[in-house]
Parts: sequence; C-alpha cells; structure tokens
Amino acid sequence: MSVAKQLYQLQEIDLEIESKEQALKQIASQLGENQRVVRVQTKLASENQHLEELRRQQHSAEWEIDDLVGKLATAEKELYSGRISNPKELTNLQHEVGGLKTRRNQLEDKALEIMDKVELTEASVATISNQLKTVEAEWHRQQQQLSAEMEQLKTRLSELKHKRQLLLAEIDPQIVEFYHELGRQKGRAVAKVEQGICSSCRISLPITDLQRTRSGNLVQCSSCGRILFQA
Ligand SMILES: [Zn+2]
Repeated sequence: MSVAKQLYQLQEIDLEIESKEQALKQIASQLGENQRVVRVQTKLASENQHLEELRRQQHSAEWEIDDLVGKLATAEKELYSGRISNPKELTNLQHEVGGLKTRRNQLEDKALEIMDKVELTEASVATISNQLKTVEAEWHRQQQQLSAEMEQLKTRLSELKHKRQLLLAEIDPQIVEFYHELGRQKGRAVAKVEQGICSSCRISLPITDLQRTRSGNLVQCSSCGRILFQA
C-alpha cells in the first residue's frame, strides 16, 4: 500500500473518530436530562396545590353554612314560639331571620361556585397526571435508546482506535508527524485526486504530479500543499 493511501486511510479514521466523539459528547449531555418531565411534574404539583386550596375553601363554606343553619333554626324557633309579644322585638327578630337567610343563600351560591371549580381542577389534575405518565414513559424510552447508541459508539470508537494503532505502526513516524502538522495547518492533510483535480482546492494538477502520485510517491498539491492521494 502506498504511503499516500495509508495516510488517506489514517485521515478517514481520524475523521470518523472525531465525528463519533462529537456524537458521544452530545449523547452524554442528553443522558439524564429530564427538563420536560420536571416541567410537567411542577405543573401537576401546582395544580394539586390549587385543588387543596379550593377544597379547604369548600369545607370552610360548608362549615359556615352549617353554623348559619343552626343560628337560623334557633331564631325561627324563637320567632314562632309565641313567647315574644313586643312588636319591636318581633320586628327585630324577623329582620335577623331575614338577614340570616340572605347570608345563607349567598354562602350556598358561593359553595356551588367553589364546587364547580373543584370539579374542573380535579379534571385538570387527572389530565396532567396522564400527561406526566406519557412524558415519563417517553423519557425512559429515549434514555434507553441513548444508552444503546452510546454503547454502539463506544464499540465503534475502540475498533477505530485499534485500527489506527495498527496503521500507525506501518507508517514512518516522521511522515506521521508531517501528516499531523499539515492537518493542524489545513484541517485535512490529505486530498483525493478526482479527474486530475485536487478535491480540496479544485486546481487542475500538472501531469507530472499526477504521474508521480499514481506511482505511489508522496506528492503535495502545488496549490494547497495537501498530500495527494489517487484511488
Ligand atoms: Zn490542492
């Protein structure tokens, strides 16, 4: 195998290692990331808190109604007992009964209103709970998939690194050093020749360079300086 071909293979391996390491980094950042789940959990907690508050209001209204009903019964009993003969006292008591009734009706309306809100909020809690189940299941699936992808990437990376070691052992260390230096300068050290053109800088190569490249010599592109490789 010509040195140019070995260097080209080395470059292919290096590029794949780079992209696989990038992918691995991205997966590592996604693993354990559960913002979406936390968002729905927070929403559910807040809705549950709202429901608790409404139930507290409901109980308090019911308790107040019970209290009023008791007071009203006592007042009415007094009113119809026949014990009161003073007209002014009677009128006052009638007013008191009237007032208590008005207050009771108002409270009953309020209690109904709260009950409606409780029902709506209960439905909302049920919806969000279901949503949470879906999001959590999706998250678990995604995490499993990411873990599997990560394992595949790790396996491929260790294969690539092994191949790289084997290839490096076959190339003159000085040429490897030159390849790395060129790579640092230009991003990619080796350029493929396609139809007489350097695929990196698109220049037409002189016939002599093409011939030397074809016979396995280490030739640099006269324009971009990359090592030329002809398949
Ligand atoms: Zn070139």
